[in-house]
Amino acid sequence: MPVSDGAGTGGSTGAASDGALLALRGVTKEYPGGVRALDGVDLEIRRGELAAIVGPSGSGKTTLLQIMGTLDRPTAGHVLIAGIDAATASDDELSALRGQRLGFVFQQFYLLDGLSAVDNVAGGLLYTGVPLGERRDRAREALERVGLGHRLSHHPNQLSGGEKQRTAIARALVGRPEVVFADEPTGALDSRTGASIVDLLIELNAAGTTLVVITHDAALADSLPRQVAMRDGLIVSDTALSTA
Ligand code: ADP
Ligand code: MG
Repeated sequence: MPVSDGAGTGGSTGAASDGALLALRGVTKEYPGGVRALDGVDLEIRRGELAAIVGPSGSGKTTLLQIMGTLDRPTAGHVLIAGIDAATASDDELSALRGQRLGFVFQQFYLLDGLSAVDNVAGGLLYTGVPLGERRDRAREALERVGLGHRLSHHPNQLSGGEKQRTAIARALVGRPEVVFADEPTGALDSRTGASIVDLLIELNAAGTTLVVITHDAALADSLPRQVAMRDGLIVSDTALSTA
């Protein structure tokens, strides 16, 4: 059963649009040069979900994540996040939305080498107006949550790959986002470490975090409650629809 993280009517309903935290309608993305990376995608993510986006390399997964996460704008179509239309919002509105309500995890971690784990995670609150002392307190809590309470002052070059990804996950969580997007979060890890990261994502979801995880790893996807499959810029199957 999905765990509600608070506001709204999200949760257990089937294909209802009212409870959608995130809704894409007819989203198309053409890159300069004419590559159509997304070709009219409709997708809804409800509060409390843990959804995998799967598909071969080049099928449009990263483009979809960047558009869902307002890191890029669609060429056509609508992207609604918690009631905000990202296609028409201003750049300032989008960066506020990203800073306060969205979290990101990437294959390559993107940690800053010169900073401790605590300061890397506290950086996730840099533009939120939270004072430094509180940023560090919340960063420590977030690191404890991902099992890194014993690595607070370590720098990235003193952490294993799995610990680096846990630090990046803590940074994504520290702002208490409504949804976390992860693009190939286990892609740079050996399979055993990757499995422990998947277990962590499942745990965080059980505690209420909505997660969208992009992967080309079929085994990883199969361990998650919902699979959305892409090919050539289209959604070709979605277990949330086929089992409804
Ligand atoms: P995936 O993440 O599934 O591998 P992508 O979303 O990265 O797929 O890419 C989808 C398609 O769009 C591919 O054909 C890719 O080459 C193309 N593409 C991605 N980013 C760009 C870009 N910035 N400029 C031009 N083409 C791009
Ligand atoms: Mg990709």
